[in-house]
Amino acid sequence: MNKYPQTVGILSRKDFLRAAAFAALMPCLPRLSHAEAERIGVLEIAPGIFVHVGKYQLVNAQNRGDISNPCCIVGGSSVAVVDTSGSYAMGVELREAITQITDKPIRHVINTHMHPDHVMGNAAFKTAEAEFVGHYKLPAALAARKESYLSNARQRLGETAFAGTEIIPPTVLVRDTLEIDLGGRVLILKARPTAHTDNDLTIFDGATGTFFLGDLLFSGHIPTLDGSIVGWLKLLSELSLEKAERAVPGHGPQSMAWPEAAEPIQRYLNVLATDVRRMIRDGKTIEDAVASAAQSERDKWALFDEHNPRNVTAAFTELEWE
Ligand SMILES: [Zn+2]
Repeated sequence: MNKYPQTVGILSRKDFLRAAAFAALMPCLPRLSHAEAERIGVLEIAPGIFVHVGKYQLVNAQNRGDISNPCCIVGGSSVAVVDTSGSYAMGVELREAITQITDKPIRHVINTHMHPDHVMGNAAFKTAEAEFVGHYKLPAALAARKESYLSNARQRLGETAFAGTEIIPPTVLVRDTLEIDLGGRVLILKARPTAHTDNDLTIFDGATGTFFLGDLLFSGHIPTLDGSIVGWLKLLSELSLEKAERAVPGHGPQSMAWPEAAEPIQRYLNVLATDVRRMIRDGKTIEDAVASAAQSERDKWALFDEHNPRNVTAAFTELEWE
C-alpha cells in the first residue's frame, strides 16, 4: 500500500509530497527583514529565494555590469546561485550579500546562458566546493567568444570594475534535464533549444513553483536576439503551458506572474518577425529593415534604440532563408 494518499483534499499526491518536503525545509531557511535585504541589494520573492534586480542600462564603468538579475536559492544544506552579473566586482558583491543571507555553502553556480552580463561574475564564486553548471552548448559558445567578450568587457567596464573578471565555463553540463538537490529543495534544470541564444537553460524550484527563465524572459528592457526568432517564439509558446507560481526574468522586475509575463515579449518578437518577413517579401534591404521594422514597439521598451537595430539584423539574416 502507498505510504501517501494519491490525493489530499485538492492536492495531488505530488503536490502533497512537495508541500510536506517544503514544510520540513522551512525552519532551515534564512529570514531577512525587508530593510536588511534592501541594504544588501536583494529582494526575497519566495521563501529562500533572493533576486538582485539589475539596471536597464548598457554596461559601463559606473554600473560595473549590473544590468541583469542574478539570484540565489537557499536549500536545507546548500545554496545555488543563478547567474553572477557582469563583472568580478559585481560577483564579489553578490557573494557577500549571500554570506549575509545564509552561512550554507554555495555548491552550485548555474549560468542561464553565455551573455557577459550573466557570466562575468563567475570568478567570485570559484571555490573547491562550487560546481559550475550550464547548458551542454555553453562551453563551446564561451570558448568561441572568449577573446571578444573579455576585450569588450575590459573596454566597457574600465580596468577597476574589470579587474579579476574571467570566463569560467561550466563543468556540469545539462543535455536534457538535471535535478540538483539543495537539501529538501530540488531544482529542475532544462536545456532548451535555440531561442535567445543556442545555450539557454531554465531552472524550476519545485518547493515554491518559481521558474527562472534567464533571458528567455525580458520585461521592460527590450529583448535581445542572439539565437533564433522562430525558435524563441516557438519555445515561449511551449513554456507558457508550463505551470509556475511566478517567473523571474533575466532583465525586468524581480518576480512576475506566469504565463502572463510572456505576453509582451511574444508581442514584440511577433511584430519584429512580421515586419521583417513583409520587408523581405517586398524586396527591401537589411538597411531598410533596420530603419523601420518593429518601430511600433518603440515606446514600449527601455533601450529600444540601442538593441532593436541588432535584433532586426539578426531576424532578417535568419528569415531571409525561409
Ligand atoms: Zn542574454
